[in-house]
Amino acid sequence: MRIDIITVLPELLDGPFAHSIVKRAAEKGLVEINVHNLREYSTNKHRKVDDYAFGGGAGMVMQCEPIARCIRALQSECDYDEIIYMSPDGVRFEQSIANELSLKGNLIILCGHYKGVDERIREKFITREISIGDYVLSGGELGAAVLTDAVVRLLPGSLGDETSALTDSFQDGLVAPPVYTRPADFEGMKVPEVLMSGHESKIEQWRFEQAVKRTKERRPELLKE
Ligand code: SAH
Repeated sequence: MRIDIITVLPELLDGPFAHSIVKRAAEKGLVEINVHNLREYSTNKHRKVDDYAFGGGAGMVMQCEPIARCIRALQSECDYDEIIYMSPDGVRFEQSIANELSLKGNLIILCGHYKGVDERIREKFITREISIGDYVLSGGELGAAVLTDAVVRLLPGSLGDETSALTDSFQDGLVAPPVYTRPADFEGMKVPEVLMSGHESKIEQWRFEQAVKRTKERRPELLKE
C-alpha cells in the first residue's frame, strides 16, 4: 500500500509515522508513506498556495492550481484507489472505514488549511471526504495521521500478533473488555479469577460478557446497530 499525503505543513507529520507500529510497517515494506509539501507545486515566487475568498470574509482559501499540479504529478507515478480530502463536513471516520481503506492499494490524502480548499478541487479530484469528528482543527494533518495509523495497523503483518486487531474495540460491534497484567494483586485490587484459571473457553465467555456489558454502559447505540 502507498499513502501520499499533501500538506502545507509537512513538519506536522514528522512524528506520527516515525515510531511504533506504523514505522515498523513501513520498514517491513507493508506501506510506503510519502508526505508532499504543497508549496513545492506553487509557481508563485513566495511559494504561496492560498488567496482571499471570493465574496469576501475572513480566512484564506487554498488555491486550485498547486493542488491540481501535485495530484496530477502523483497520478503520473501510479493509480490511486481514492483521493481523500480531510474535512469536518465529510463522513465521520470509524473502524469500518479503516477496514475498507486497508484493503485498497494506493491513497492520496489532501490536508486542508485556513478556510479549506477551493470547492472545485473537491468536485474535480476528491473521491471521498472524511471527518475525524464534529470539531474543527486548524489543518487536516492530524486527521490524516489518525486515518493513516488506523489503516496501517490493519495491514496483515503490521501487528505482532496477527489476530490482535480483531479483538480491539469496534471490530465486532462491541468495545473491548478490560485487560490486566502483573501483578495479580495491586494494592489489594485483584485480577478477576477467571483470567488466571487457564480455562480458555471460560475466559473467552467472560471477555465476551464484559464486552457486551461495557458496550451497553458506554456505547448502547452500537448494540442497536
Ligand atoms: N472552514 C472549514 C474548516 C476549515 S479547517 C469548515 O468550517 O468546515 C481547515 C482544514 O482542517 C480543513 O480544510 C480540513 O482539511 C481540516 N479539518 C478541520 N477539522 C477537521 C475534522 N474534524 N476532520 C478532518 N479534517 C479537519
